[in-house]
Amino acid sequence: MLDNLTQRLAKVVKTIRGEARLTEANTAEMLREVRLALLEADVALPVVRNFIGKVREKAMGKEVMDSLSPGQALVGVVQQELASIMGADLGEKASQLNFSTQPPAIILMAGLQGVGKTTTVGKLARYLRQDKKKKVLTVSTDVYRPAAIKQLEMVSGQSGADFFRTESSEQPIAIAQAALDYAKRHFYDVLIVDTAGRLGIDEQMMQEISGLHQALSPIETLFVVDAMLGQDAINVAKSFNDALPLTGIVLTKLDGDARGGAALSVRHITGKPVKFVGVSEKLDGLEAFDPVRMANRILG
Ligand code: GDP
Repeated sequence: MLDNLTQRLAKVVKTIRGEARLTEANTAEMLREVRLALLEADVALPVVRNFIGKVREKAMGKEVMDSLSPGQALVGVVQQELASIMGADLGEKASQLNFSTQPPAIILMAGLQGVGKTTTVGKLARYLRQDKKKKVLTVSTDVYRPAAIKQLEMVSGQSGADFFRTESSEQPIAIAQAALDYAKRHFYDVLIVDTAGRLGIDEQMMQEISGLHQALSPIETLFVVDAMLGQDAINVAKSFNDALPLTGIVLTKLDGDARGGAALSVRHITGKPVKFVGVSEKLDGLEAFDPVRMANRILG
């Protein structure tokens, strides 16, 4: 078991007759501990560097220097800074879905294969049906994997959404346009478009999804990323962010061992808010993102 960061920092500042003294040397050592904690939580290295730079400035501030327990004060600064980078200052609105458009509001899902895109479509459909009382249509443009289309049909049924049936012989853009046309004619509030993913970044996949984006002009383009991806999350996020104007992120599989560093990396590299987190395989396993809770989880 790792020591909790507060304990680790307290150890750095040795107590002399019960008095903790903060020096330049042990501040540097404390920042090294923070750096280590972030790396252990799988935050990507460039993000850690940038973050430590920001925290260093604050650590030298009066609040930490004059504190009776500088270790704890520094943890406070780190927690606050983490939560604020992940959107705590923006308030709840940052994590909500945008519906301010002529219906249907289109949600385009992007991400690698296996990260939980289709499951997330089911979860979002369930949330929009049950909590928001929206009329929801889903469609899959994954013409490469008929099983993925079947899977979406199944989760849509479970979520109470309608599913737009397609053939894998059709073209993704034609499928999406037909679904949009159907959604308009039948007065759907929301159309969720599931897309094909690959195991790695792939030029053809990027062109295809960017074509879908141009054809549909979705109000939300959600990048789905697996928390277990760890350090690699940053490269994948960068590629998708370069190819598409993302509006938000869904971080899946947070019920696993991952400490959640990917949330910070992906937020940092895209500048887009994490809107939801996936916390189980089941359709009710979707939660609104909470920056403060995530900061605590990252710090362990
Ligand atoms: P896709 O290829 O991106 O569409 O991924 P799928 O939706 O098919 O999900 C891949 C696997 O991840 C499936 O076994 C899902 O049950 C699982 N999965 C998706 N989201 C979560 C989650 O939040 N937690 C857990 N534990 N498993 C998840």
